[in-house]
Amino acid sequence: MKLVSTRDINKQIGSAEAIVAGLSEDGGLFAPTSFPRFSLEDVVGISNYSDLVGFIAAAFLSDFTQEELSTIAASAYKGFPKSAAPLVSLGQSTHILELYHGPTLAFKDFALQFLPRLLTMALKKTGIDKTSVILAATSGDTGSAALEGFGSVDGVKVCVFYPQSGISNVQRLQMTSQNSENTKVIGLKGNFDDAQSGVKQIFSDKELAAHLSEKGYIFSSANSINWGRIVPQIVYYFWAYATLVRTEKVTLGESVNITVPTGNFGNILAAYYAKKCGLPVHKLICASNSNNVLSDFIKTGEYDKNRAFHITASPSMDILVSSNLERLLFEMHEHDDRAVRALMNQLMSSGYYKISNKALQAMQDSFYAGYVSDAETLKCISDTWRKCGYLSDTHTAVGIKVHEEYAEKTGDATHTIIASTASPFKFADSAILALGGHANGDDFKRLEHLSQMSGISVPHVLRDLSQKEELHKTVCSPCEMKRQILDWLL
Ligand SMILES: *Cc1c(COP(=O)(O)O)cnc(C)c1O
Repeated sequence: MKLVSTRDINKQIGSAEAIVAGLSEDGGLFAPTSFPRFSLEDVVGISNYSDLVGFIAAAFLSDFTQEELSTIAASAYKGFPKSAAPLVSLGQSTHILELYHGPTLAFKDFALQFLPRLLTMALKKTGIDKTSVILAATSGDTGSAALEGFGSVDGVKVCVFYPQSGISNVQRLQMTSQNSENTKVIGLKGNFDDAQSGVKQIFSDKELAAHLSEKGYIFSSANSINWGRIVPQIVYYFWAYATLVRTEKVTLGESVNITVPTGNFGNILAAYYAKKCGLPVHKLICASNSNNVLSDFIKTGEYDKNRAFHITASPSMDILVSSNLERLLFEMHEHDDRAVRALMNQLMSSGYYKISNKALQAMQDSFYAGYVSDAETLKCISDTWRKCGYLSDTHTAVGIKVHEEYAEKTGDATHTIIASTASPFKFADSAILALGGHANGDDFKRLEHLSQMSGISVPHVLRDLSQKEELHKTVCSPCEMKRQILDWLL
């Protein structure tokens, strides 16, 4: 299968090349030309997670064999639980898909443990003999997951920019304590959108690319715009469905809803792609915090990023421009690249666009959206703990609450998979507050405190952090990002 740019369908490209490039030169994202259809019998019949990765990913990454992809998955996910993503049922029809049992305790590990291995192989397949430089903007979790995934891979260097305010201390420490030589971690005087647009600008700087190419470097992206990150995320939705069938909670072919706490629109896009490939999904429920651009967009068809930016209790979703939405627009406009280009140009120039009624209708056929405030999020953590004895993190709680509101409003009692995107210990302060405690003492005291309140032990990767030193101390403003990279590489 070839991939095309969402802004120019005449630009066809193989999967290995797309992985290496990250973003298309015209600014578009790589998207599939068509969708394979997987038989649910086949999916349910595959009981090993890595085998399912091979089965599904091979259809989207045709430069790689099924066997190669299964092998990459086996190595990428070897530290994960055997079930990869445990499914925990809260009551009859609500099922929490815990995607946070990887090395950095967030769902991004699924993609970011997979991508470096895929990229190394993609470089070989495309015959590129250069050191790949991964640049990532992070709202918190991408950074540590990228550093964890790429840090020890030969022939790759990683540079991560994180917004100085708006991420937790533990998140920062997870990144700045990285001691592999091929990593660079920089705090940005700005928010996530500043970091993301700075990275995008560097990626589209042709002069810089040519200069670095002479020195033996090639840029790649680990952000969720890379096609190699979307593919492994499609797999776990099929896996979750298969788990529900195997445990006889749903019958083969029965529809489910999928709720995803959403920021950059990568995770929920993967769920939508799964639907396109035959996963029986009734509604995709897009859950936001008070940065509610997406829920307004899905309700009205108007995307308007000209609004106040809020730092919330679910900081990994504090985003006003969701990059992966472009891939959904591409589907909603039936691969009309001119339409997508026009919308993206409007977004660039005015921060606003409106889609046609037809595209809006198509979007609402598949999607429902809602958002919740921080107060509601904390109350949801508290209620879920009290009623079900289940402790969720703030991001997941946004999903749980929006789903609850959806179910009340529509009366839809379809079985629902809620993506749980992070461990509650990653955002311990909010969890402590929600359970009625006080977040006192240093970070590690608070982790212990949460452990005592909940009876759940502190994940060892976080406990070990307390022994580590903050090694990366660089801070810069958005206009200095390029300079920092040059200084580091040359
Ligand atoms: C990144 C992240 C999200 C948002 O996921 P997107 O794919 O960007 O929509 C939600 N929750 C957590 C914990 C995250 O790290």
